Amino acid sequence: MNGPSKPVFLLVGEDRAGLGALRRALQRRLGADYQILAETEAERGLSVLRQLRERGEQVAVVIADQRMQRMTMEQFLERTHELHPLARRALLAEAFDYPAEQAISHAMALGRADMILVRPWDPADHWLYPRISFLLDSWVQATEQPGVCAVRIIAQPGAPYAHELRDRLHRNAIPFQWFPPDTRQGRQLLEQAGQDGTQLPVCVYFDGQVQVAPTVRQIAEALGLRCRPDARHYDVTVIGAGPAGLSAALSSASEGLATHRTENVEASALFILAGAEPRTGWLPGTLARDEDGFLLTGPDLAPAGGLPARWTMPRSPLPLETSVPTVFAAGDVRHGSTKRVAAAVGEGACAVQSVHRHFQQLADAQQVARRT
Ligand SMILES: Cc1cc2nc3c(=O)[nH]c(=O)nc-3n(C[C@H](O)[C@H](O)[C@H](O)COP(=O)(O)OP(=O)(O)OC[C@H]3O[C@@H](n4cnc5c(N)ncnc54)[C@H](O)[C@@H]3O)c2cc1C
Repeated sequence: MNGPSKPVFLLVGEDRAGLGALRRALQRRLGADYQILAETEAERGLSVLRQLRERGEQVAVVIADQRMQRMTMEQFLERTHELHPLARRALLAEAFDYPAEQAISHAMALGRADMILVRPWDPADHWLYPRISFLLDSWVQATEQPGVCAVRIIAQPGAPYAHELRDRLHRNAIPFQWFPPDTRQGRQLLEQAGQDGTQLPVCVYFDGQVQVAPTVRQIAEALGLRCRPDARHYDVTVIGAGPAGLSAALSSASEGLATHRTENVEASALFILAGAEPRTGWLPGTLARDEDGFLLTGPDLAPAGGLPARWTMPRSPLPLETSVPTVFAAGDVRHGSTKRVAAAVGEGACAVQSVHRHFQQLADAQQVARRT
């Protein structure tokens, strides 16, 4: 284990021939960037991990045979995790050994292992290397390795906003690095940004911009992301993410409509509204409501028959359509709804059917207009 500290792959297994083959396969692909180490006993593997920890070396991946003589797989995984909490852990099992696969799946469900690798792995380009790449990708993300970085964030890892911020950045595939303010790099970055660290997070962007305690929206703007949806890109906007809203969004997207789901009210195309409490105070006065604030839709808009008052379309309101044409309401927010999850889900899907009918009627009308 001489030489500079390239991150380590540690392989542990009692089958010497199998271990050797795996080591050679990994060495061929990853040898330039990683040290590939192998041990034939679990205890010796743990001893190597202890030495690496003492020397401050990084362990990227530990691959261990699921069968061990002197300790259980669980014990080995637990000790590995104690020594190198961020190392990814994969377990090797024979192909079609279903009891072994079940035991590994159990370990994965409990967060003790990250992956099953099956032997034999030929062809390696299908069975081995893509899985190893997946493990490495997850390790790189977890350890925030230096590299292309859009924003460096100086903040305590356990700050109340930390989870949401990381989650949003991950979900938008924004490469970032996180530095606690009491680390050398954190202090250095704060100094460069002219900050004393009393207000966090401090964000230092790839182009030199600095923001102090920004909102998520301000971060998105600094990264040049679009924060306001462009109504021209969407056929349907769904407001609300309860059962009705999610069902509507799912139906709409799966049926080929360009769908935008929002938790705010800035969009201006077709709306489908959803909500357990009516909470309809923000709506424009033009949307007809009952005395409790629930939205009137379809036939409820004109109980005596005919078209509703101030209705601007030549057709009658479609099922679930509100008093403003092309604005639909589904779920608890609607007057007369059943106030159950299943009913809300059903209404969300039905509202999308009405949207299709509206588009179809528009297309038919345009065709007629072209002919005349
Ligand atoms: C305590 C309780 C227990 C219940 N138990 C059951 C049960 O056991 N079985 C059952 O079937 N039903 C149950 N229900 C009813 C069920 O929860 C509702 O019928 C169902 O959630 C309705 O779904 P929805 O999508 O219409 O509304 P909601 O679930 O209320 O979702 C509306 C969503 O819209 C969002 N929203 C509201 N206003 C805006 C706005 N202006 N902009 C953006 N977003 C907005 C809200 O934040 C929310 O996420 C229960 C309800 C309650 C309150």
